[in-house]
Amino acid sequence: MSVNVGDLDAIGIDARRRIASAPDEAALEQLRVELLGKKGGLTAALRGLGRLPADQRAAAGARANSLKAEIEGLLATRAQQLQETRIGTLADREWVDVTFVPNPIRRGHLHPLTLILREVKAIFSRIGYDVALGPQVEDEFHNFEALNIPQDHPARDTMDSFYLEDGKLLLRTHTSPVQIRYMQSHTPPIRIIAPGAVYRRDATDPSHGSQFYQFEGLVVDHDIRLSDLKGTIEYFARSLFGSDRRIRISGDHFPFTEPSIGASVSCGLCDGAGCRSCKAGWLEILGAGMVHPQVLRNGGIDPQHFSGFAFGAGLDRLAMLKYNVNDLRMFLDKDVSFLRQF
Ligand SMILES: [Zn+2]
Repeated sequence: MSVNVGDLDAIGIDARRRIASAPDEAALEQLRVELLGKKGGLTAALRGLGRLPADQRAAAGARANSLKAEIEGLLATRAQQLQETRIGTLADREWVDVTFVPNPIRRGHLHPLTLILREVKAIFSRIGYDVALGPQVEDEFHNFEALNIPQDHPARDTMDSFYLEDGKLLLRTHTSPVQIRYMQSHTPPIRIIAPGAVYRRDATDPSHGSQFYQFEGLVVDHDIRLSDLKGTIEYFARSLFGSDRRIRISGDHFPFTEPSIGASVSCGLCDGAGCRSCKAGWLEILGAGMVHPQVLRNGGIDPQHFSGFAFGAGLDRLAMLKYNVNDLRMFLDKDVSFLRQF
């Protein structure tokens, strides 16, 4: 094959046009092989240089090499363009909107009974109380007898119990047995609260359930008086319900305290005047009293040297009053829309 300048010009024109119109990187690579590969026109032209007359060979060689360098440069530039186009298209198609707000992850809630328990613990820990726990399966001695509730005592009727199969152990009906267990294993001064679940075979209604929560308080030391109990109740009730609440103490009766009292706070809605929510203006919050001397003895403490007071309250009831919940059973239902309100 003979080569002349006209052939090289035609090769150059064709190469420039096809490189400029190559649609993508794969097509350009194919074109590169075609233009510069062994079967390409330029390679054939270079191979044919040897057959040219000597006086034309140098000029044609320089021309062919210059064209080869030009084509290589055009291929590289076009490759760069096509790559940029490809990446630009990719960014349009696969973009990320950093301002996009996904569905929010719902955080969990503390159960209202957990909230009230934490608050009660905090209120009493500020005045030096420890938290004591006891078993939920109790024997009759700790649940009844040691608390002055013998077999035939009418109080047993009000605490209709769940007995285990052996007929001797039962699910505790109140947190008071923790008083006995704590006194048996500690010496005064004693200052504890004992929260936990209790169980009774009560009919289930808006204010009674077969499982509910109580906390017990017990203080035993030298010269503990009823006025200490009264001050403690006032401190507790105002801490929980608000410093503007008034406290009313009334007489009551429990087998394990003497004397026994009940404590009420003024209704937060009507301030004691009486309304639909409180009926008589006052809300009963706990029962309490001076620990009966025989109960101290049952706990291994000499009533000649020590005296004490005890109090007990329903955590469910306190939570109902504080959060204005009118059905105790809501606390045991697994209703998320109820729980989200707290
Ligand atoms: Zn009221």
